[in-house]
Order: sequence, then structure tokens, then C-alpha cells
Amino acid sequence: MIGVIGGTGAESLLDMYPFIETKTVETDYGVSPTISILEVENKQVAYIPRHSKNHSTPPHMINYRANIEALHLIGVTDVFATNSVGSLDINVEPGTLLIPDNFIDFTKNRKSTFYDDEVVHIDCTNPYCEGLRGMLIDGNDVYPEGIYIATEGPRFESGAEIQFYKSIGGKVVGMTGVPEVVLAREKQMCYASICAVTNYAASISPNNLTITEVVDAMKMCEESLIELLTSTIKKTDENRGCDCKKLLNDAII
Ligand SMILES: [Zn+2]
Repeated sequence: MIGVIGGTGAESLLDMYPFIETKTVETDYGVSPTISILEVENKQVAYIPRHSKNHSTPPHMINYRANIEALHLIGVTDVFATNSVGSLDINVEPGTLLIPDNFIDFTKNRKSTFYDDEVVHIDCTNPYCEGLRGMLIDGNDVYPEGIYIATEGPRFESGAEIQFYKSIGGKVVGMTGVPEVVLAREKQMCYASICAVTNYAASISPNNLTITEVVDAMKMCEESLIELLTSTIKKTDENRGCDCKKLLNDAII
């Protein structure tokens, strides 16, 4: 089954597709996330709001393990995640959808593995599923690559931090991409992210964006996000030539 992890600004996905049922899934991580099963292009798709219902959980408090475990338990094998990000590149404008191909992790205080009691080192050379990335990129109006810088939040980054992230190759910055992608890999799921650029990160643009510009960018991203997800879910099939489903074979010591 395909799963969608909806980030900030993706809430309207729920209203866009026929609703089938709601599942509340008990996990080992202290919470029971609620997942909506929707019908998209004749396929059942599991939708989970990353920040819980009503967007009530801030990025650093999200129970990433519970969200991924819940999707895994109901049979999700392929995940499309949406993440709001700030751009570190003046040429990657607000309103752009970017499909990241790697990440650098600057988070500090998160539970970032399912394996606290056994030694498992999951490979993260290319952390996002190349098969799903290809489906998101081919024939679509997206920025096809970029390093996602993950920060702890909830504060925004300082100008000096952003200049540093830019100097090490970062393309976008956000607070929710990691450890989610890593946890999905630990469950051997195919996982790809669609980053919605809603603003320039601190110190990147000489002009401060107005609220209207940010709202316009979010609106633009929301519309193209729904279009991209719908067309990609339609063409998602099993043949993608990736190794995601075998990740644990070489990871357990
Ligand atoms: Zn894969």
C-alpha cells in the first residue's frame, strides 16, 4: 500500500480524495496515530498528518517512530512524504517543489532508530528511494535534486547557520525530514520526499518576504503538490529496481 505523510500545508489532501475509513493504530511508542484511508486513482492510500490532528505537534516533539510504525503495521510499503522547507539557493524560488536526493542531519534530541536493543547500522548512502524519486521527477515540473538540511527547531535558523549550511552544499532546510526517512529505511520501505519551498531561509534573500508572498508560495505549492501526488500515485508500480526492500540484509551485525 502507498502511504502519504502530510506536512505543513498538505492538510487539504484529506479533502481532495474520496474517504474510505479511519484506522487508529496502536504502536509500541506510546501513541496511537490516526490514519485516513483514501481512494486516489483507484488505489487505497494511507494518509497520516505528520503533526497529528489539527497540526498540534511541533517538529521536535513529533513521534516519528510511532508514525512510521503505524504505517508499517497497516501494510504501507511505499511512502511519499511532504515537507515544507526554506530555500538556501536564490534560484530555487518559493513555490518550487524539490525532490531531495540526500540529507545532512543537524537534529539533536530525537529518537532516531527502532533498534535500541540490537546493533543495526542501516545504509544511508542514497537515503531516498531512487525508484520513487524517478517517478516524482520524470515529466514533472520539479527541481530534481538537492541536499536537505535537517534542523532541530522549533526556532528558525540563524543567518550564520544558514550561510554554513549553504557552504556545505545544502539546498533546502527543514525540521521534519530526519529521522523520518531513516526510520522508513529501517522498516525497508521505499520513501521519497517532496519538499515544498515556502520561503527563502534567513539571510538568503536581500529582501524579507512579505506574509502575502509566503501565503502565495504555500498556495502555489499546495496546488502543485496535489497534482504531483495524484499523477505519481497513478503510475506507481512494483517495478522500480531499488534495494529498499532488502536494506536489513546487510545491516544487522
Ligand atoms: Zn525503493
